Amino acid sequence: MNMPNRMTQEEKLRGTCRFFGPENAKHECGAGIVFKFEDGGIPCLSWHNSTAVCSKRASFTEEEVKEKLVQRAKVVNDFLIANRSAHDAAKVQGYGKGHGGYGEIDCPVCKTGKLAFKVSAYNGHLWGQCKTDGCVSWME
Ligand SMILES: [Zn+2]
Repeated sequence: MNMPNRMTQEEKLRGTCRFFGPENAKHECGAGIVFKFEDGGIPCLSWHNSTAVCSKRASFTEEEVKEKLVQRAKVVNDFLIANRSAHDAAKVQGYGKGHGGYGEIDCPVCKTGKLAFKVSAYNGHLWGQCKTDGCVSWME
């Protein structure tokens, strides 16, 4: 069994139950099963080598795995585009470590919203968020 940090995103998706993901404070999965970490791992992730058995466990289909990989690649790419544009705009304003500030540009990802950004005077890190629901948002 591969260790998680040596697995590719694709391998991780293939080893993850389609219902995995704490949906609420009770840590129920999407199939309504409550996680029990004390059972020596959870059966939702193949690399946990859990001895617990879950009757609802189900894998993603090949199509879903491919779709998710495409979607994740898009999220990374959108972030890179928005992050670069915000950095460029911040540079024009002269923002950086020791000189923080706020700004707003037309979002280069959705092209309809405004991408707000903030530069920390403390460490120069840049935070950004598009005002369009579901568009880019990040913190450095
Ligand atoms: Zn946007």
